[in-house]
Amino acid sequence: MRVSLVDRGEVSGGTTGLGEGNVLCSDKAPGPELDLAARGLSLYDEIEELLGESAGIRRKGALIVHPGEDSWAAEPQRLERLRSAGVECSTLTPGDAREAEPELLGTLLGASWFPHDLQCAPAAIARALAREAERLGGAVSTGAEVQSIAVRAGRVEGLDTSNGRLAADTVVLAAGAWSARLARTAGLELPLEPRKGQLVRLERRPGFLRRKVIDASYMRAVADPGSGLQVSTVAETTLDEHMLVGSSRERRGFDLSVDPSVSEAMLRAAGRLMPRIRTLRVDGAWAGLRPWLPGGLPAIGTTAAAEGLWIATGHEGAGVAHGPITGRLIAQGICGEPPELDPAPFDPDRFSRN
Ligand SMILES: Cc1cc2nc3c(=O)[nH]c(=O)nc-3n(C[C@H](O)[C@H](O)[C@H](O)COP(=O)(O)OP(=O)(O)OC[C@H]3O[C@@H](n4cnc5c(N)ncnc54)[C@H](O)[C@@H]3O)c2cc1C
Repeated sequence: MRVSLVDRGEVSGGTTGLGEGNVLCSDKAPGPELDLAARGLSLYDEIEELLGESAGIRRKGALIVHPGEDSWAAEPQRLERLRSAGVECSTLTPGDAREAEPELLGTLLGASWFPHDLQCAPAAIARALAREAERLGGAVSTGAEVQSIAVRAGRVEGLDTSNGRLAADTVVLAAGAWSARLARTAGLELPLEPRKGQLVRLERRPGFLRRKVIDASYMRAVADPGSGLQVSTVAETTLDEHMLVGSSRERRGFDLSVDPSVSEAMLRAAGRLMPRIRTLRVDGAWAGLRPWLPGGLPAIGTTAAAEGLWIATGHEGAGVAHGPITGRLIAQGICGEPPELDPAPFDPDRFSRN
């Protein structure tokens, strides 16, 4: 197939370059989301083989920490379900957790350990894959804004862009938090909204944390359908040895401003788990827009709105984990190959049927 990638900015100039770059099974709910994550995680072996060191893959694992009785009491049952879905995990006593991460000096009832979760460099990977597509004969047009998806007699004809019409008999819409407006130009109503997330970067402190640390309340924040502010701790040392602290969730349109009170709330929450984090100097903060769909699952597949239109969006806070497997499923669908997992739960038309 002849493929063109069109982006109004640079490749990975949207949300993909703004996150922590974690590929996690530890925070996923058993079912379609975990199936996607588990297949997604295994595709990172292929990415590493293709791109080598530049993919920045560090298989450092993740610790879900439990400062409160409510999540800790339910954790053995959750791990049992994850294990039966093939995810390797175990519980740690507070002592074992502190041996693994000495900075966990706050209240702790226990932790769960996921050795295979990893961190990568999403912007570097996306750019390297775009270069690889060009090497294989594809075209990459950056700085070209898609104004609408051209549809005639129920079939896509291509894209109308700031550089003119680009003819195509297949279009994949993967415009992240900005996808709903473009979907509407092809007659598809996607209830997709940006969900803002803020991160704080602290001074360089090699080895402050060795693993990804996630407060168990994070899963509740992700699943919460409300639009109000949610704050729960995720923290880790980045590839360049800075401490990165998140995270927040809030639906307030396309607002990318940094709110100092949100940064302070995230640092306070992280300080309850790791008090010494409060001694590190704040080095910067930024916000990104997660593409959120009601119910939390992405939209992956074709739509009845227009023949030849494929949708790949709505990955919320897991687009790095779920992106490569989404691309694989879309490619298999377009090429008429059997999908490597059942795409039915991700049907983009599921919202119009309700
Ligand atoms: C703070 C934060 C932390 C995160 N951490 C993680 C994490 O650790 N792990 C994880 O898996 N996920 C994480 N995520 C989520 C993840 O970053 C997103 O799910 C993912 O980046 C979405 O990718 P995407 O390709 O759909 O969107 P984007 O990366 O935003 O790409 C969409 C592209 O479409 C282009 N575009 C939009 N409109 C148009 C148009 N009209 N014409 C042409 N081009 C257009 C944009 O320029 C952009 O390049 C995080 C998100 C945030 C905000």
